Amino acid sequence: MSEEGMKEVQPKAKKKNHLKLVAIVVMIVLAGVGFYYAANVYFEQRSQQVSPTEQTSQEQTTQTTTETTTTSQDPTALMPGTNHNLQAKDYAFPTAKIRAYMDGEETNPDNHRTCFLTFDDGVTREETSQILDILKQMDVHATFFLVGKSIKEENKDLVERIIREGHAIGLHSFNHQYDKLYPGGHADGRKIGQENVESQKALQTILGPDFVTHVWRYPGGHMSWKDVEKSDNVMRSYDLEWIDWNAAVGDAEPKGVRPTTVSEVVDYHQDSITRFADTGVRVVLMHDSPDHQVTVQALPEIIRFYQAKGFQFGILE
Ligand SMILES: [Zn+2]
Repeated sequence: MSEEGMKEVQPKAKKKNHLKLVAIVVMIVLAGVGFYYAANVYFEQRSQQVSPTEQTSQEQTTQTTTETTTTSQDPTALMPGTNHNLQAKDYAFPTAKIRAYMDGEETNPDNHRTCFLTFDDGVTREETSQILDILKQMDVHATFFLVGKSIKEENKDLVERIIREGHAIGLHSFNHQYDKLYPGGHADGRKIGQENVESQKALQTILGPDFVTHVWRYPGGHMSWKDVEKSDNVMRSYDLEWIDWNAAVGDAEPKGVRPTTVSEVVDYHQDSITRFADTGVRVVLMHDSPDHQVTVQALPEIIRFYQAKGFQFGILE
């Protein structure tokens, strides 16, 4: 071989070495790329396995947000579509169900001892305020059956307070005139229905269109009048259920029979509960109309009586 040939060979050998180097580099690069893809697939699978947990934690975050939204709502604000505030939903009972327990039409589940304090004929400036004060101090709740004509601007604060402090509102006619509601002792469903609609409107004027009550009490009591079943059906068409009572303090009795001292009220009440079957639920009839100071004075005793017997206090919706 000539030198030139050698010179020619040498670059060829160099070229071969270059090619080898390039091949090695390419292989390293390919191996790297391969490893990169393999690693990617591996981690993708891992992340898919992990994702359910991540989803759960995302759901939890969403739930927490929802809960926070719920709890941040004012618990004393009216619960839309009801006759009570948001926090009262835990102790609000359907009227027809409680009536069925009272009448023995349905069996009251064991240990369901609930007392429903009810006040008819309000609101009044003095008695309603005093009763609300006592209920607040003793941390119990009640249902107020309001007479429509008392639901006016000057009593707005009392009506709002009933809802804000966790009580319920029921209807009790607009004018409370027996001769108009029960001509000749017969319940006039059409007239009663009209008065209840009027009362419901008066309540919505004060509490807003979201206020709706489904509970009402016949002035004088369902038990006192004829043809009430026909009237019941008319009320049902207005989505209203009636309720009477199975305990009383005698504060609507004629003067002379009506208890005048706290101990007479307590005795009257004690006697009244023996006249109705013990079904575990007690609906106590009381009045917050004017001249009912003895009812106000006796109320703490009546509450303690039920507390001592292990009753919970409920409201009617
Ligand atoms: Zn009444």
